Amino acid sequence: MNEPILLSTPHMGNRELDFVKEAFDTNWIAPIGPHVDAFESEFCEAVGSDYAAAVSSGTAALHLALRLVGVGEGDEVLCSTLTFIASANPIVYLGAKPIFLDCDRSSWNLDPNVLETVLKQKAAEGKLPKALVLVHLYGQSADLDPIVELCDQYGVALIEDAAEALGATYKGKSPGTFGKIGIFSFNGNKIITTSGGGMLVSPDEDLMNKARFWATQARDPFPHYQHSELGYNYRLSNVLAAIGRGQLLVLKDRVAARRKNFQIYEQTLSEIPGLEFMPEAEYGVSNRWLTCLTIDPKIAKCDREHLRVELAKNRIETRPVWKPLHLQPIFDKCESLGGKIAEDLFNNGLCLPSGSNLSEESIQRVIEDIRRIML
Ligand SMILES: *Cc1c(COP(=O)(O)O)cnc(C)c1O
Repeated sequence: MNEPILLSTPHMGNRELDFVKEAFDTNWIAPIGPHVDAFESEFCEAVGSDYAAAVSSGTAALHLALRLVGVGEGDEVLCSTLTFIASANPIVYLGAKPIFLDCDRSSWNLDPNVLETVLKQKAAEGKLPKALVLVHLYGQSADLDPIVELCDQYGVALIEDAAEALGATYKGKSPGTFGKIGIFSFNGNKIITTSGGGMLVSPDEDLMNKARFWATQARDPFPHYQHSELGYNYRLSNVLAAIGRGQLLVLKDRVAARRKNFQIYEQTLSEIPGLEFMPEAEYGVSNRWLTCLTIDPKIAKCDREHLRVELAKNRIETRPVWKPLHLQPIFDKCESLGGKIAEDLFNNGLCLPSGSNLSEESIQRVIEDIRRIML
């Protein structure tokens, strides 16, 4: 029986355990501590942001970000439709309504033309959305310039969901640093991980202080326990921040390894009729978090689902591209604009094993299997 080959698994470097040992030696086993502070400042350096707040997950970071820009009961919030559900759930936590927007074929990210159309329409109706949750999908930045401009023009707060895009660039700068607030995730499957964790970044120090305040139960500065605002228990553990500091040291290697995976897949599979890889937009560098491709069932020997099932028989884990949020049963009453491109990518798209620790042997097994099934 072949060993299983998984989609994306944690990949520790050499320093994480040293940092964790330091947390044990100093007894900072708490949701505050020197590693949390250091992780925040080292993260700022890594992405080129002024301020950051470390929290327990990317979802928690988004929840805080939306509340920080004033999203509340009855507000409308725009959101990319082709993404993981965590991009939109926090909109609903706050009693607001998501409106899902289609992506463009060339980047798989939010189509600025769709954004412009919805903003014009909403402005004419006299009620503008409060915010946009802009996703940078599978490690590739969305086309930020026109999106930032539209958000400025219409007074819509830009929140960047860069959970998958740490280490990527847009015109030389990190996605996540263009909006009012950006968020990142360190879940176990992301490009670097703390097992679970998240980060907010912002050019606004007050916003990040407020994020930390809300994330620690909104405790007012008194010797006794006093609370005037609603808070959460969302801070990142000092032990997990220790892992994060070690992981940040190898971020560049992780990006290089994932880009190399992509390159090997592309070189060996591109000749297969009907198979196409997720394009890399010319405005930036993708971290290639996951290698994604589409299969045109009219041209190829089989469809996406057949390929996925055949690979699974050989213990190779692949996943369909995200099911668009406007198709999710939980959101069936929500507004959306466009969506056909996202639907097409979902119907025909597949994510291949892409870990930065994928062995040469494993990647060759995946390639040989795909060629056997499709050629
Ligand atoms: C992983 C992910 C999140 C959520 O991050 P968690 O740390 O798992 O809560 C949000 N958005 C996107 C696009 C993601 O991929």
